[in-house]
Amino acid sequence: MRVLIAEDDAVSRTILRRSIEKLGHECLTAEDGEAALQLYRKTEEVDLVISDWMMPGVDGLELCRRIRKEESDGYTYFIFLTALGDRDHLLMGLEAGADDYLSKPLDRDELRMRLISAFRVTQLHRRLAAQNEQLEKLNRRLFEESRKDPLTNLGNRLRLNEDLDVLQARAERYGHNYAVVLCDVDRFKRYNDHYGHLAGDGVLRRVAGAIANQRRSGDTAYRYGGEEFLVILPEQPIEAATAAADRLRRAVEDLRIPHETNRPHGIVTVSVGVAAVSAGHPTSADELLKQADTALYKSKEAGRNRVASHGSVNGG
Ligand code: GH3
Ligand code: MG
Ligand code: MG
Ligand code: MG
Repeated sequence: MRVLIAEDDAVSRTILRRSIEKLGHECLTAEDGEAALQLYRKTEEVDLVISDWMMPGVDGLELCRRIRKEESDGYTYFIFLTALGDRDHLLMGLEAGADDYLSKPLDRDELRMRLISAFRVTQLHRRLAAQNEQLEKLNRRLFEESRKDPLTNLGNRLRLNEDLDVLQARAERYGHNYAVVLCDVDRFKRYNDHYGHLAGDGVLRRVAGAIANQRRSGDTAYRYGGEEFLVILPEQPIEAATAAADRLRRAVEDLRIPHETNRPHGIVTVSVGVAAVSAGHPTSADELLKQADTALYKSKEAGRNRVASHGSVNGG
């Protein structure tokens, strides 16, 4: 263990340090509470503090209280070293956060016993802290994984819903706009039927990759459903969002993945629907998605591989 001794009496301090070092522990010493506090702050992982009660300036009681307040990760075991062995003092010490006490004059066997308990407790705290860290890591990973689509690595519906809640709150509170772009792979059922489901999965991955690469920083892409992808563009009015949607459409077209049964294009294409919240026209997220879906339907009707925005059709 790393032990910090706070004792204003030089002789007692030396005796204590030697005894502790003999028992195989590392020792730091301070001649009063203030010096002990400074040492405690700049030393990593002090396992145990053994402190005299009466010292000039910051006394043992105050030192104990401050350490309890300041310790963040890990636990510092605290033992009072005192001639004041009466019950009132012991109680005060324990209430200030101390774990144990040693009476003066120092008895070596008693010291050994106290150090054994201290070691046991600090080891236990270390183990718990390590386990906690593992659990937090695992939790963060589960949080991320549960919001990711495993096939494409894009955000899934859960993440989309959470992000939409945030955007919607901002739109309502501060009048911030945003647009949604809904992309649907054309004639994908036929692709699966013709090339096989596994090849279909590969196409979804590549289309998702093209969409993710083409999107600008700040925009977020999600797998909305089977062969449908959604991109959110914060602070984009409908015109800019429609232009961005056409770049996404072209990025998929540029993959030039053969798709014989997607006539007349002959390659994998997407149809796109765009809708935007505009300032002064409050639209719920659900309503916005519905508008994008209606626009997407218009793109399909107009011949696929094109973009339609809530209101008009254009593109490929
Ligand atoms: P449209 O141009 O009108 O969108 O026609 P479509 O065939 O793409 O639309 P439809 O909704 O009829 O079919 C969607 C197909 O997408 C059917 C389904 O098997 C396929 N699909 C959905 N999820 C996956 C997936 O994870 N992997 C594969 N390979 N196919 C999928
Ligand atoms: Mg003293
Ligand atoms: Mg679909
Ligand atoms: Mg489709």
